[in-house]
Amino acid sequence: MPLRLYNTLTRSKEDFTPLDPNNVRMYVCGPTVWDYAHIGNARPVIVFDVLFRLLRQIYGASHVRYVRNITDVDDKINAKAREEGVPIAQVTERTTKQFHADIAALGVLPPTVEPRATEHIAEMIAIIERLIANGHAYAADGHVLFNVPSMKDYGQLSRRSLDEMLAGARVDVAPYKRGDMDFVLWKPSDDDTPGWHSPWGRGRPGWHIECSAMSWKHLGEVFDIHGGGIDLVFPHHENEIAQTRCAFGHSVMANVWMHNGFLQVEGQKMSKSLGNFLTIHDLLKDWPGDVLRFNMLRTHYRQPIDWTLKSLEESWRILEGFFNNAGAVHAEAGRIGKAVLEALSDDLNTPKAIAELHALDRPGAQNELGETLKALGFVGNLSSPKAETAVDEATVNGLISARLDARKAKNWAESDRIRDELAKMGIAIKDNKDGTTSWELKR
Ligand code: AMP
Ligand code: ZN
Repeated sequence: MPLRLYNTLTRSKEDFTPLDPNNVRMYVCGPTVWDYAHIGNARPVIVFDVLFRLLRQIYGASHVRYVRNITDVDDKINAKAREEGVPIAQVTERTTKQFHADIAALGVLPPTVEPRATEHIAEMIAIIERLIANGHAYAADGHVLFNVPSMKDYGQLSRRSLDEMLAGARVDVAPYKRGDMDFVLWKPSDDDTPGWHSPWGRGRPGWHIECSAMSWKHLGEVFDIHGGGIDLVFPHHENEIAQTRCAFGHSVMANVWMHNGFLQVEGQKMSKSLGNFLTIHDLLKDWPGDVLRFNMLRTHYRQPIDWTLKSLEESWRILEGFFNNAGAVHAEAGRIGKAVLEALSDDLNTPKAIAELHALDRPGAQNELGETLKALGFVGNLSSPKAETAVDEATVNGLISARLDARKAKNWAESDRIRDELAKMGIAIKDNKDGTTSWELKR
């Protein structure tokens, strides 16, 4: 069965044919590293990891080049660094490490290349210079802007009317802009803001140019698949397309554009003010990474997903059932079995793939079930993360009363030994004036 993928550019499901029949090139917009990633950010990471694994099985592991960038220059990062009074590199390095740890726990493979925006300033400047030279961009007041009316078919991906685009881009009217829709390629930095030398003075890039530069450097002027969340269609991807196509003169930037739907929590938009903001980091304290991954894949990637406690609990039970019956897999990575492979080949139909996993949960199919689960990124560690840190209160109270007895008998060595034993369990104790001892878990 051929691989079929839904293409946002054509609004239809198409047979996938890579430009080079033997090698696939895919780019996915990665995180802006200013704070812990939330579970919505995990969706594109997991979805495109499944696609990466599928492509590797179809084309061979060394024939898929997957680029997922790190956006490490952004005004949110600048604001965070200013708030903490530290250099931006401190914020971006810490956040990148947290991101890597989080997604590794979700069974996500590292991409082939993980470029950082700050290491591609020269490529950004090169693209901007080309755009100025061919009349698609202009410099004004230390800024460089993309001249939207210079591109006749601007808006191809999002297919919005000009009014919708103006509203969506939340355009600010600025004196240096020729057209309302023109967007920033380069902007000036004051002395307190990170900046790089450029032909237009010291400044920093706009967000969209970063991805045009990194995809060009690592995949070329035209490549196969470009992905990200649905919110990126406009303006981010529309503007990436405008920059790359106008700089290099091709009719497309990538042949297939794929977008995952949005994630909401218990029926509501996730937001800090509603108190339902879930970071991957916090979720991993309560749920095995396998369960979070499985829960994400129970919904087809283009549908919105409602992230609920009930569904997480079901996911845990289903996976436990699978792994109780799955055969031991010795290979580092198994292969995806035929029925699951066919389901995934139909535009990553993961709900169907999961139905096929249920069908493999029977005598005689245990090995295929185990291999397939492994190949899909599940490791089978389903014990509660809390189990390792849980303390048994009865044990603690027993030790505390034994210690009080030791103190009454002036057996200080024994009393100290018990204090140390409790400390090893992560428990700090405090002797009160009234002769009692209180304790707390220090972790
Ligand atoms: P950002 O760091 O905000 O640029 O987002 C990184 C990725 O996460 C992008 O591909 C976004 O489209 C995606 N994303 C952000 N919020 C959500 C959400 N609630 N549901 C699904 N994807 C999301
Ligand atoms: Zn991007």
